Amino acid sequence: NLVDQLIEWDQKHFLHPTSSVRAHQQNGPEHIFMEGNGVRVKDIYGNEYIDGLSALWNVNLGYGRTDLGEAAKKQMETLPFSSSFNNYSNEQAIKLAHKISKLAPGDLNVSFFTSGGSESNESVFKIIRHYWKLKGQEKRTKIISLGRAYHGVTMGASSATGMDTFRTFSTAHSPDFIQAMPYLTDCEKGKKNDLNFEHSIRGIIEREGEDKIAAVILEPIQGAGGVNVPPGGYLQAVRDLCNEYGIFMIADEVICGFGRTGKMFGVENWNVVPDFMTVAKGITSGYIPLGAVIMKDSFRDELASLTDNILFHGFTYSGHPTSCAVALKTLEVLENENIISHVKDMEAVVLERFETLKNRHFNVTNDRCVGLLGAFDVLKDPSSNTRFAPEQNAAMVVARGCNKRGLIVRPVMYKGANSVVFAPPLVANKSDINEAMNIFSEALKEFEKKVK
Ligand code: PLP
Repeated sequence: NLVDQLIEWDQKHFLHPTSSVRAHQQNGPEHIFMEGNGVRVKDIYGNEYIDGLSALWNVNLGYGRTDLGEAAKKQMETLPFSSSFNNYSNEQAIKLAHKISKLAPGDLNVSFFTSGGSESNESVFKIIRHYWKLKGQEKRTKIISLGRAYHGVTMGASSATGMDTFRTFSTAHSPDFIQAMPYLTDCEKGKKNDLNFEHSIRGIIEREGEDKIAAVILEPIQGAGGVNVPPGGYLQAVRDLCNEYGIFMIADEVICGFGRTGKMFGVENWNVVPDFMTVAKGITSGYIPLGAVIMKDSFRDELASLTDNILFHGFTYSGHPTSCAVALKTLEVLENENIISHVKDMEAVVLERFETLKNRHFNVTNDRCVGLLGAFDVLKDPSSNTRFAPEQNAAMVVARGCNKRGLIVRPVMYKGANSVVFAPPLVANKSDINEAMNIFSEALKEFEKKVK
């Protein structure tokens, strides 16, 4: 039968990303998903789940959108692919670059296209280093990122990733990547008599020498690291610091971009304009791969003035017309259906229901949600900040309990933390959210019995 066949082939022939190779080989896939509609997906047995992670924080418009499918079909039948190398171009990529320039804050008006978030971060690092080289500042090679950050898995992107499980996965690191301690706002503003100063971005710049630093990269809100929201003033402090030293500021908007946080871009929650934004995921609602590096006109103009050499960087699929057509449709839907203001409304619903979870369930604490990017922690004793023992896998137990009841959520158990992430498609309505929260409550009840 089909199920057994798929399980066998999956075990034998499919090495899965970010999963236990052994567990997979022994047990096969946990779910085989077959179809989706709105915020829900169905597995091969016909079980339905609310997708509380929008697949990988990317299926922002939900499943089963025929308009996105139509946009892809039309483009595939007209001109499925065309190169944008050299001076070739295509209608969809041009229109998308123009559209992004209208949506992005400040003078972030120029796009370089990729196929995903890692490629976008890899590209921004290389383009910036190329720039410094052209400026005669070849020693400006170092990239500062934050602890707990996630920037992807290519050599540079994983070297910038703060989660050391990813960074130390392979032996070879790209040199010159340094992680700072997140959210030391006062240090970034210049307060030096702080115990942690040497671990701040400013401390690192002072130690390494400003003429060695190419850029600082950070997520407006850290996603994979556990939905960590910076304190007010932090992003501005980093912006000011980068200005002070003439260092580029990169915002990794791969999760936050295109409405996830209730603004078009995450940085807009703090009215900060970075020098570069990297995007992917939500730009096509995950229906097809696409990413971009968005930069200021002034940067592109300076690059042009520095050299007439070829930019020896680009992917076969940079500016893929079919991907760009789906992105254009995604952005059209975001605007026409007022999705972003809906997200802001739903933020209030989630926060209210998180409050109820906290009141009903002793272990729930540190709830946070910006737009539809939310999470809470489970602690053994929130009043004394006591964590569960790592072997209790607290967040995993809660997430499994949710899964069993028809809600997919992500546990984050990095360095002893136990966060449970809730980031449903941006089209989730109040009743979807209430249903998800009722499931959370049931899963937490079961969890409480287990840990008693
Ligand atoms: N940056 C952030 C903030 C991400 O969350 C991710 C993926 O989750 C990436 C970069 C990498 O993107 P991709 O997996 O498309 O290469």
